Amino acid sequence: MAGEKVLVVEDKPEMIRTITDCVLEPQGYVALVALNGEDGLRMALSEDPDLVILDLRLPKMSGLEVLRTLRELRCSVPVIVITAYGSEEVVVRALRLGADDYLAKPFELDEMLKVIERVLDKSKQEKERVRLSRELEKSVQELSKKLELVLHSIDEGLFSVDRELRILTFNPAAEKILGWREGEVVGRPCTEIFGEDDASYQEALLSEAMRKAQPVTSVKEGYPVTNKYGRRIFITSSVVPLLDLDGQVVGAIVAFRDVSADVELAHMKSGFISMVSHELRSPLSHIIASTELIREADLSRDQQQDLLNIIHAQSNRLNKFVEQILDVSLLEAGVIKAERKPVALKPLIGQIVEAFELKADTHRFEVTALQGPTIVVGDESKIHTVLTNLVDNAVNYSPEGSRISIEVNDGDEEVVISVIDEGIGIPAAQLERIFERFHRVNAGDNQEQYGYGLGLYISKRLIEIQGGSIWAESELGRGSRFSFSLPKWSPVSDEQVSEENSA
Ligand code: ADP
Repeated sequence: MAGEKVLVVEDKPEMIRTITDCVLEPQGYVALVALNGEDGLRMALSEDPDLVILDLRLPKMSGLEVLRTLRELRCSVPVIVITAYGSEEVVVRALRLGADDYLAKPFELDEMLKVIERVLDKSKQEKERVRLSRELEKSVQELSKKLELVLHSIDEGLFSVDRELRILTFNPAAEKILGWREGEVVGRPCTEIFGEDDASYQEALLSEAMRKAQPVTSVKEGYPVTNKYGRRIFITSSVVPLLDLDGQVVGAIVAFRDVSADVELAHMKSGFISMVSHELRSPLSHIIASTELIREADLSRDQQQDLLNIIHAQSNRLNKFVEQILDVSLLEAGVIKAERKPVALKPLIGQIVEAFELKADTHRFEVTALQGPTIVVGDESKIHTVLTNLVDNAVNYSPEGSRISIEVNDGDEEVVISVIDEGIGIPAAQLERIFERFHRVNAGDNQEQYGYGLGLYISKRLIEIQGGSIWAESELGRGSRFSFSLPKWSPVSDEQVSEENSA
């Protein structure tokens, strides 16, 4: 090895010469010389030597003093001390102050060379060790940053627990799914945050993964847990045990997904199938029973007529149901599109009211606030369907002789059309839900049910695809007001409309 800088702090010229000329230079070391303690200290600090050979007896500042100051200043340059005394006590003091080795005078040149090589070698190894551990520390830091980034950006909820199932980490997706903030749950048993009734399955999964020291996956249909706000959601999860370097289980990581929407869909599908089969079966069995009676029983003309009326009503019911189901599936598949054309409301409302007056002379119809030519942008046949649905409901859910009004409010940018009845009304808690498909209010007062709970759902979708919105206000026992808004037509919007239609 060569090229290392060796600082020799020595005041005796013949000793200096021996060290530099006979030991250092022939081996290719670069020799620096300081003739007293003070210069030695200064050069050790400023010249950045690889090694200091330090005589202990020096003018101006003793070798031990130099050594102490160097170490106090956190200078870790390796130091070999030379002692003339052969005194063990001084050597021990020097070693305690941080000398790396020593040479007792008189010494052989060979011996000195060996000591120099050994100390430099050790120092080199130490430097390499420090460099490697810094590099390792840096890569660990980079890795943990990346890991943190992944944990933060991942869509899956992730949390880790220790052996006692206490939460250690909780990523943002877990916060989003379960509603808890990381700060609220760290340190708490995970069973506590999943709701008492629902925690046992989660606990069983964790225990199994830790007992087997192997990953475990939950049932794929999902299992219920309760979120922070008391809402039950369904999750699927995989639990991976955490092992330490000796292979001992120290905890586990749980990766989970919110599958509530899938579970709800599955419920809805099975509910939908049983509901459709029931709705089909019930009018069909009326029709079959009535036709069998007509065929086989000896009935009067009037009795036959009654049965034919039943068949007619039930066939209509069946037909309406099939049509509505078809509308729902087309709307949901996005197949039904709405035109965006100017539609004059006055003649449209007039037509609908006329048709109802013919069909349902049980109610009084009234149209208010239609002075000017109110024109909206939309799809005439779809507005017709919605208005007919709303008026039909108003007729069905209000007593004979009561009034049904259609009101038009002409705003700056939109027009609001309302159908107001004096009927049974809707409980406040149900108002939001009546626009859901198949939702029928069951007021518990033997309210007659006229349809399938699809009319308002279809109406909502039809209004929304025309860029409007629909809502209901109601007072139980006093009546309801169903309103929908549509964009108002203006010459400017007409230009946009024709551009959109031609696009
Ligand atoms: P349906 O065909 O069953 O009438 P809708 O979707 O049109 O279905 O309405 C859903 C439910 O909302 C109805 O079953 C009824 O309970 C309630 N509802 C709708 N319109 C009115 C109204 N004008 N007054 C009282 N209840 C209404």
